[in-house]
Amino acid sequence: SDQPIQRALISVSDKTGLVEFAKGLAKHKVRLLSTGGSAKILKEAGLAVTEVSDHTGFPEIMDGRVKTLHPSIHGGILARRDDAKHRIAMETHSISQIDMVVVNLYPFIETVASGAGYEECIENIDIGGPAMIRAAAKNHEFVTISTDPAEYDSILQAMDENEGATTLELRQFLAREAYSRTASYDSAISNWFAQQQGEYWPKRLALAGKRQMKLRYGENPHQQAALYSRPGDHRPGVANSEQIQGKELSYNNINDANAAFELAAEFDEPTVVIVKHANPCGVASGETLADAWDRALACDPVSAFGGIVAVNRSVNLDLAEKLKELFLEVVIAPEFGPRARETLSKKQNLRLLRTEEMPDRTETRIQATTVAGGYLLQTVDSGRVEQSDLKVVTKRQPTEQEMADMMFAWRVAKHVKSNAIVYARGGATVGIGAGQMSRVDSSRIAAWKGGEQAGVEGSVVASDAFFPFADGLMEAVKAGATAAIQPGGSMRDDEVIKAADEAGIAMVFTGMRHFRH
Ligand code: 5GP
Repeated sequence: SDQPIQRALISVSDKTGLVEFAKGLAKHKVRLLSTGGSAKILKEAGLAVTEVSDHTGFPEIMDGRVKTLHPSIHGGILARRDDAKHRIAMETHSISQIDMVVVNLYPFIETVASGAGYEECIENIDIGGPAMIRAAAKNHEFVTISTDPAEYDSILQAMDENEGATTLELRQFLAREAYSRTASYDSAISNWFAQQQGEYWPKRLALAGKRQMKLRYGENPHQQAALYSRPGDHRPGVANSEQIQGKELSYNNINDANAAFELAAEFDEPTVVIVKHANPCGVASGETLADAWDRALACDPVSAFGGIVAVNRSVNLDLAEKLKELFLEVVIAPEFGPRARETLSKKQNLRLLRTEEMPDRTETRIQATTVAGGYLLQTVDSGRVEQSDLKVVTKRQPTEQEMADMMFAWRVAKHVKSNAIVYARGGATVGIGAGQMSRVDSSRIAAWKGGEQAGVEGSVVASDAFFPFADGLMEAVKAGATAAIQPGGSMRDDEVIKAADEAGIAMVFTGMRHFRH
């Protein structure tokens, strides 16, 4: 039943590849039917085109709100070619069949992203386009639907191979893509409405996204995986980065690079973050990136092997020389200087990701995860306390240096899996305890890890959530911490403060916790 395509309706907003595709169709003697703007371009390219308004005998009205919404268009798309009654209806109403529909939609998401006002966004909701896409996809047994310029080549190839017809297999594939296109289009509109109303999600979940990369596998080789981008989300970060060299990115690479880069974005001073399994194993700020690197690496040089590095400045030659010395999986940075690129190009496998800019760390986005039978959504943890938000709860006031180190340790702790305990000294982590079920264990691990290197003597300690008892804090004091930063809010805060006072350390409460599971 694969009949040569005789008439195609073309109505596209994104005109990419349009002329070439239409010329390919014309070669197969396909008659072209098109709407205003698309028809104009095709005519200018010397192609014979019938305007939809001439075909229907009905003009485009209401600023294009009604262009293709006409029975002779939708009848032509929806008619079953093998149904006698449908054929009679076509004859009775002078409807000619349309075998191919080429439509991509008004750029709603891009319009929103451009900062356009309410009216303009509304006007960019495509009505006739989705109607034609859904009609053509429904009748895919006979009709070919294309919603993406990336499909044009394979359609022309199929026509070349099948005397001007496409195959059912291709039409089914295109129908699948078509419905996912209209679904994600409408979901973007409904998400936008929700945001207008001060909410993040409408009642029915619909996350718009476009596959950017099929990944070889997921966290493990037997899992399937892909990276999706969120249309209209131009946030500097992993999904919008450019890979300038190195092996193919893996699922874990992307996840780790994201964790590292989001942490690097917390700081204004030159900062280096080294991540393993989505947890930092060394973070430092310094005068220069090279200096920060030395101190970040010193925190846990064993774990740093095979690590993911993020920095918040352009990678310069000094840093590149140091990076070259260690086996690393990924380096993500806003930029790589020309000499740094040349130096790192000798490490062919090393993946370099360039983001151009650092992201806005206060921006709130959606974070989704699945649970058996459903999804859990939340806004990402963009909470941020400043020094002025801190409350000193001990008799002893922290010194200036302790204060600076506590702020640093606190920013890091936010990005460490709970229970998170972070020791820092002089703008560098010196011990990190991550992902333990008991806060005391995280505290011990952090101190022990620190002891393996330069020690945590004279450092400050940060805890992502309150110390429920004094024991966790006492572990830190025993290890040599002189000040502590934690949310506070435990039933036994008094007990914990008393223990801090007795130990002679300074302690501040943030009033905000940073669980990360
Ligand atoms: P053109 O640039 O060819 O004038 O318009 C192409 C765009 O119009 C496409 O994005 C297509 O989806 C959209 N479109 C086609 N028919 C209709 C209609 O009847 N109503 C609306 N609102 N949009 C339509």
